[in-house]
Amino acid sequence: MTKKFYITTAIPYVNAEPHIGFSLEIVQTDTIARYHRFLGEDVYFLTGSDENALKNVQAAEEQGILVKKLVDKNSDKFYQLKDALNLSFDDFIRTTEKRHIEGAQALWKACKKEDIYKKKYKGLYCVGCEVFLTEKDLVDGKCPEHKNKPEVVEEENYFFRLSKYQDWLEKLITTNELKIIPRTRKNEVLAFIRQGLEDLSISRTRERAHGWGIPVPGDPNQIIYVWFDALANYITALDWQHKGKLYQKYWPADVHVIGKGITRFHAIYWPAMLKSAGIPLPKTEFVHGYITVEGEKISKSLGNVIDPFDLVKKYGTDPIRYYLLREIPAYGDGDFSIQRFKEVYNANLANGLGNLVARVAKLCEKSSSNFKATKSQIYPQVKQSLNKFLFDEALSFVWKEISVCDRVIDREKPWELSNKKLKTVLEKLVKEIRQISYNLQPFLPETAEKIEKQVKGPKIKSEKPLFPRLK
Ligand SMILES: [Zn+2]
Repeated sequence: MTKKFYITTAIPYVNAEPHIGFSLEIVQTDTIARYHRFLGEDVYFLTGSDENALKNVQAAEEQGILVKKLVDKNSDKFYQLKDALNLSFDDFIRTTEKRHIEGAQALWKACKKEDIYKKKYKGLYCVGCEVFLTEKDLVDGKCPEHKNKPEVVEEENYFFRLSKYQDWLEKLITTNELKIIPRTRKNEVLAFIRQGLEDLSISRTRERAHGWGIPVPGDPNQIIYVWFDALANYITALDWQHKGKLYQKYWPADVHVIGKGITRFHAIYWPAMLKSAGIPLPKTEFVHGYITVEGEKISKSLGNVIDPFDLVKKYGTDPIRYYLLREIPAYGDGDFSIQRFKEVYNANLANGLGNLVARVAKLCEKSSSNFKATKSQIYPQVKQSLNKFLFDEALSFVWKEISVCDRVIDREKPWELSNKKLKTVLEKLVKEIRQISYNLQPFLPETAEKIEKQVKGPKIKSEKPLFPRLK
């Protein structure tokens, strides 16, 4: 039987249009999904939009439009990343869909009765995070992520008995039964668990939720906490609520790809919820860092939000994919700047890859030889790196192979060779270029296809440059 592989992105809030930060996450996820398809696995790739957050309500109020209208508009923009970034996702779930609402409520009901209880509570709530913060989370009385004072909220909520799962969670993560990559993130999660876990508020009053969100089953005056609801998307999209075919085939998730700001939700709350509901647990969580733009945190007020659609329109899809995968450290934070983007584009795409293909194609055309088909393989180094989500390392290996080819050309000076010798050198180069394009498929699918077509043989001809130089 074919091995199955289920991978997800986190579902972004749709209070604004997508920016470069989520583009990183979804391009990384797409690369892993394509890589596993490439290995012959039966892959299911899910993304979607988180529409029940209070942030969405506030954004709609600011714009003076209905919440539904705002989430429809922005969710559609996120969906359009599919074409812009050449994404291969299989499904896009919106948390305002009926299937999700039913599923999230079913998950609530499936949790052990003794794990959910009601109590009066007073706490500090950050709407930006959609989370209650404790005093020890605050820096100078402010949310460290959003730099604003959280609201004091006092109300009666439902709570999830997270404290009960503390030892179990610690063991789950220490033993790698739930793997968290990279190790620094795993250590952060463990440190957080060892501080002691408090029970988690999992509902809001209808009033505070502005009537927006999924009602608690049997208590319509309470709305399910947006994180409890959002996390459920990973199973509701598979029709867990009806024990559907997709669920039976693909669950548990092989990889959840998430940003470092939401590790706690995915590595602590989510497994505890699933355990309580008697549902098998995901296997791996890959945590990426954040992108700054020109050295600054991305923020609307700074006006440095980069629109991925603009970038793609100007420079094409694969150069953007390349930058995100190669220039942003897979395990850490990275920066996007137009200047750096242009440097990388010219050095690695126009000169490196593009120039190599153009040079060799031209020599092949001149030699008027026929080139036999060759069999390409995935480089073991690329495989090893991708198994660890080290996109940058994988691409840097491919680019090493590109410079090996360049060196061969410089050394052999094929333009000075006799026909027979020329053919031998070109055959070697063509084989290597095919191998390079084969390995680029998960990263730069469109480019890989173009090169593959151009050097397929038996006659190889010059074509227009893959990456025209940028000024
Ligand atoms: Zn916050």
